[in-house]
Amino acid sequence: MKVLIVYAHHEPKSFNGAMKDLAVSTLKEQKHEVKVSDLYAMKFKALADKDDFVKISNPDYLQYVLELKNAVDHDLFIEDTKQEQEKLRWADFIIFQYPLWWFSVPAVLKGWFDRVLATGFAWDFGNMYDKGLLASKKSMLSVTTGGPENIYSLNAPHGWDINQVLYPVNHGVLFFCGIQPIPPFVAFAVFQVGDEKRKQYLEEYKQRLLTIETTKPIKYHSLSDFDENMHLKT
Ligand SMILES: Cc1cc2nc3c(=O)[nH]c(=O)nc-3n(C[C@H](O)[C@H](O)[C@H](O)COP(=O)(O)OP(=O)(O)OC[C@H]3O[C@@H](n4cnc5c(N)ncnc54)[C@H](O)[C@@H]3O)c2cc1C
Repeated sequence: MKVLIVYAHHEPKSFNGAMKDLAVSTLKEQKHEVKVSDLYAMKFKALADKDDFVKISNPDYLQYVLELKNAVDHDLFIEDTKQEQEKLRWADFIIFQYPLWWFSVPAVLKGWFDRVLATGFAWDFGNMYDKGLLASKKSMLSVTTGGPENIYSLNAPHGWDINQVLYPVNHGVLFFCGIQPIPPFVAFAVFQVGDEKRKQYLEEYKQRLLTIETTKPIKYHSLSDFDENMHLKT
């Protein structure tokens, strides 16, 4: 497979850095082709604004979602966006490696979603979810947390289990564009657990990486499961 790792961490010696390096070496050993987008090292621009386009169609009023589509239609993206979209076109499988920040992704990764997954490139009106424009691709979130696993449940202080916390990215971003996420790999409480447990996480992650090609995606509804009012058919 062709695997793109989108990596969002500011410190190469971090546990996230160790997970990214392990993914690169393990996947290459398995003869997969690997590319890495190291967003901090690239100083990837997180803000979505007019500077993302060589030229915009309405200089008086920036409607970002329309300018994205215009840029796709007329080849008006700046170079970093073009390169990331080219990597996405190339990839069969995308791994997102990041620490959970505020139940979400670091700003630089959010910026990557905002700027790269453009209208007309990743999705379009009428081309969402199983009809998304990136529907042939699969993905996996590889996430570290500060909080321990038992704090992530309905009856615990965080109030959601980790799959619910990751749903906005897995479903609202990736599956929205057609990309099919497989179950995430989560290393909980990485700075509290101690070295033995961290080594165990890396071993478990390595085992997971060996099976990503054959792991079934999370089952989400296709648009045909809904009626004309967008209600789930019984
Ligand atoms: C703005 C912000 C928001 C946050 N929001 C949340 C939140 O909503 N929910 C939540 O749960 N947490 C949250 N956190 C915590 C965050 O998720 C953790 O800080 C992060 O997941 C830790 O990952 P890291 O890679 O930075 O760990 P690091 O601190 O870099 O590493 C942890 C430990 O692993 C060691 N290590 C590094 N490499 C290896 C190796 N190869 N083998 C063994 N050990 C190694 C390091 O030396 C260190 O001791 C937040 C943090 C910030 C800054």
